[in-house]
Amino acid sequence: MEYKTFLIKYAEIGTKGKNRYVFEDVLCKQIKEHVAHLGEFSIRREYGRIFLEAESTYDYEDLIEELQKVFGIVGICPIVVEEQVDFEAIKKKAIAYMQESYGDRELTFKVNARRANKAFPMKSMELNSEIGHYLLEACPNLRVDVHQPDVLLNIEVRNQVYLYSATIKGAGGLPVGTNGKAMLLLSGGIDSPVAGYMISKRGVELEAVYFNAPPYTSERAKQKVVDLARIVSGYSGTIRLHIVNFTDIQLAIYEKCPHEELTIIMRRYMMKIAEKLAKENDCQALITGESIGQVASQTMQSLACTNEVCTIPVFRPCIGMDKQEIVDISEQIDTYETSILPYEDCCTIFVAKHPVTKPILEIIKRSEEKLSDVIDDLMEKALTTVEVVEAKVEDLNSVG
Ligand code: ATP
Ligand code: MG
Repeated sequence: MEYKTFLIKYAEIGTKGKNRYVFEDVLCKQIKEHVAHLGEFSIRREYGRIFLEAESTYDYEDLIEELQKVFGIVGICPIVVEEQVDFEAIKKKAIAYMQESYGDRELTFKVNARRANKAFPMKSMELNSEIGHYLLEACPNLRVDVHQPDVLLNIEVRNQVYLYSATIKGAGGLPVGTNGKAMLLLSGGIDSPVAGYMISKRGVELEAVYFNAPPYTSERAKQKVVDLARIVSGYSGTIRLHIVNFTDIQLAIYEKCPHEELTIIMRRYMMKIAEKLAKENDCQALITGESIGQVASQTMQSLACTNEVCTIPVFRPCIGMDKQEIVDISEQIDTYETSILPYEDCCTIFVAKHPVTKPILEIIKRSEEKLSDVIDDLMEKALTTVEVVEAKVEDLNSVG
């Protein structure tokens, strides 16, 4: 069966009144952007519904896969349209639809008619039983089950008639652009791309920051982070990735501060820089991939110390998740294979043998005083030498 039209279903929670139009506008814009590279499509809005129409040839699998990346869509229904609002025409179309879609598979079905067009003479119940009757006659493989049918054939009678039976699951969430923008601390690991995906799913646009430590970390490690940003951008839209040269700050911490406190102090400076970049770029929050107890820097005490430098909200969507749960999402969103590439990370190079697991804020702050003569200049330099990469999914397989 070749489909030209798709009914796009979205959840209506939080979309009452004026908000609903904003939400729909943004969703339509998102759909347009996502499908643009797959062919010519137009979007029609009728009675609070969104229809996507193919105006050219396109690849069905590619289109569905792309629509499943658009946050805000809960279901995608490929529909067939009958132009004539006439019983005979609907009957023929229903039979052809069931035969083409399901062949001679032994299935139970139920017709679910909805008559929105009151000029059509038959009531919904009547249409259900009449179409059901003719389907049974035309398709010996079908049986009726009104309680748990294998196939629910929806027939909507409006100015045209829509027939559909399948709803393909969408990503859910809210359309990107309906809930502000946040700065993701993106490392090359498994957790932070998942964290970015999860917050973006709530309608939040993303920018990202990566702390690079050349020559201790390689060009390949940086490229891996660019690639991760590109994969996530397939859902969130383009991500401006800020690459911060963190080497001098790390070296200063390494030289002047107690080694068991290295990670925690380093994380505090990362958060400070990330917050500055967030504010400069209109981001209202930070996002990290932290999860309670995962490593020494993610105990409750460590998280409290890290958090203390931030004045804007820090979202940690993985905070209560087990590693396996995070891995499952990373596989589902396709970041896993890239995340596990074995390139070094700046945190792992300067890591102490026995990091503190219960840091005390006052002690950490006292250690940081040892940096006081250099840190302002180093922070300034780090911020003025930021490299920005526009990460777009379409550049994923290109070089550089
Ligand atoms: P991930 O899998 O996200 O790397 P992780 O388990 O390795 O997480 P940590 O290295 O402790 O955990 O980092 C915790 C969080 O701090 C990361 O999820 C990320 O948000 C941020 N982070 C760590 N290193 C960097 C970096 N080099 N650049 C940007 N953000 C970083
Ligand atoms: Mg990491």
